[in-house]
Amino acid sequence: MRTEEIKRSSTVFLLSLAMVLSIVSVTFTFTQLSLAQPEEERHLIVISIDGCRWDYLQDENLINIRQMIEEGAVANHMVITNPSMTGPGHITLLTGAWTGKHGIMLNQFYDRQLGFINFFGEIPPEEQVNYLQAEPLWVPAEDAGLNTAAVHWTSTAGEYEGRRVDTVVPFSSMPDHDRIEHAIQIINDNKPNLLLVYTGGVHSESYNYGPGSDEVKNKLRIIDGWIGEIFDAVKEAGLWNSTDFIITSDHGFTEGYSRQICPSYVLANIGIGYEFVLWGAFGHIFLSNPDQAENAKTLFVGMEGVDEVYTKAEIENLNLYNLYNENRCGDVVIVSKYGYQVAGSMWGPYENAVENVHENRYRAGSHGYPGDLQDMWGIFLAYGAHIRRANLGEVRQVDVAPTIAAIAGFPPPEDADGEALNVVKTIFTSILPSESEGLPGEDVIFLVTVKNTGSTAENYLLENVDNSGWALELENNVIEVPAGENRTTTLAVTIPENAEPGTEDLITITATSIENENVSDNDSCIAHVIPPKAELSLVALYKVGLDLDLYFDNGSKLVVKFYTYDDAFENENVIETFTPPWHVEENKSARHPEGIGVKKARLVLTYEDTENVISTIASFTVARDDIFGRVMEIKGRWPIASPDERNALFQEIMDIKGQWPFAPS
Ligand SMILES: [Zn+2]
Repeated sequence: MRTEEIKRSSTVFLLSLAMVLSIVSVTFTFTQLSLAQPEEERHLIVISIDGCRWDYLQDENLINIRQMIEEGAVANHMVITNPSMTGPGHITLLTGAWTGKHGIMLNQFYDRQLGFINFFGEIPPEEQVNYLQAEPLWVPAEDAGLNTAAVHWTSTAGEYEGRRVDTVVPFSSMPDHDRIEHAIQIINDNKPNLLLVYTGGVHSESYNYGPGSDEVKNKLRIIDGWIGEIFDAVKEAGLWNSTDFIITSDHGFTEGYSRQICPSYVLANIGIGYEFVLWGAFGHIFLSNPDQAENAKTLFVGMEGVDEVYTKAEIENLNLYNLYNENRCGDVVIVSKYGYQVAGSMWGPYENAVENVHENRYRAGSHGYPGDLQDMWGIFLAYGAHIRRANLGEVRQVDVAPTIAAIAGFPPPEDADGEALNVVKTIFTSILPSESEGLPGEDVIFLVTVKNTGSTAENYLLENVDNSGWALELENNVIEVPAGENRTTTLAVTIPENAEPGTEDLITITATSIENENVSDNDSCIAHVIPPKAELSLVALYKVGLDLDLYFDNGSKLVVKFYTYDDAFENENVIETFTPPWHVEENKSARHPEGIGVKKARLVLTYEDTENVISTIASFTVARDDIFGRVMEIKGRWPIASPDERNALFQEIMDIKGQWPFAPS
């Protein structure tokens, strides 16, 4: 115990010495100082929660997601591509392009040249990518040399212009948790730089039980637990400090619709030929003769359930809903009202222009409406080592892919319509050491480092706050840090003269870019007053040992007073006479002045007159354990002791025998 404390004291001393030396060198080399650090590997895990509406994340029971929201960059909501469906949404997340540009108009679609494409139903996973008309983000990621992986994410299994995702678990109907297990396995085995993971449970529960139902809430809580499993896997793989996470979704959800518009019935009745009617809240009508588009459009204007009708030319010229696509946009596009959707021609024939949805096709939840409709809004949340804390307000689904690229460090996909969101932290503030201690009146020194990982030099304003009001002084309040470098300055914390031993001050330094106040980071450190330490122990029956590390700003003597077991004063021994402030850090011993056995000893601080006690610093009562320890020492000493020493030891044993019956156990 005692040697440990001596060791600790000398460690503190060596640390302070090292600190002083480092301050000296920092002072001299400050302007050139750059603590070069190797470019670290980055990892990004993107999790899609299918059908997760913007407001679902408010649930307090989502432990991991709530933590991400509190510490990361979170959107209030995300505007979805049109229509707000799984296929178009996931391809927008993958390409950063709106639906008309990437060409996946719905989970199935019609193409003037290729005919009906049952994208989710019949196209094998490795061929889905062949139908994309915009570059998926894993292409520039591969070109940047990143290790990529995808679990159950549409259109990641095949080859796009000669590039493929390194590790793929293709889109299939496996249970959600199996997907998480695959993801964890990939994190362990491959440590990918970019991992895309899809989960589907919220989507299916929303269809079956309606948006916001208990079933949906429960499913989201389960997925939150899986996010925790992924966190654990990342920690176990040693990647926590280099990994970021994005949680996003393809669309929101609203109540099911009960009425459907049947264009194929309307057109057949009037004698206008059509090739195909693609269903949903955006109904695409492909006419046999596209020249009849204007005529066909007039049939639907003002019809029950129809909100808007456009010709393909209007969709193109007015850039409506970002839906224009040369071969895949209908000649006429019907946008249905809330509560209605367009019925596809492949399920006909229909017997009315508008009719009730057949009972066995009705679902409690639905989506597919315009992506700026509140219930269709999705989620976006970024969190991790390189993510700043921010409220992003409204974001767009097309911004996600460029943001993924910015976080993971590769160029955005070339067809992206969106832009990277401002989520990447470009400033890292750190203070070393995190804790340090000193005596009242002394300065405790910390090193404050600001790292700029942005692309331009920045000037940072350094501000400090503390909770004990001690004097703080930064060597520099403004520091300029070139792009990709770091700079260090010192913080001196002056411990007040009257600070009580054991008290502390928590200091937080915030560095904020003068050019951009959103670029900000902070770190904290603690300065302690050296805690007092005074321990008494039995050295011989007649002598106590003192292990001291004490600071005095008043008093003039340190005295050991000896008492009987009944607290009657026997005598005293002055250990030290001093002038405050005074710091004592050593091991001493004090004899009983009368050479009799020590029963009780008190270490006290006094004024010049030792009866004038200021405080009792430590007390010690000699117990049987202490005496027994001494007896064992004597036993060990005896064989090598000289005749004179044996006489003394024998006398001590006799005195111990006399004291033993009175000593407390
Ligand atoms: Zn979906």
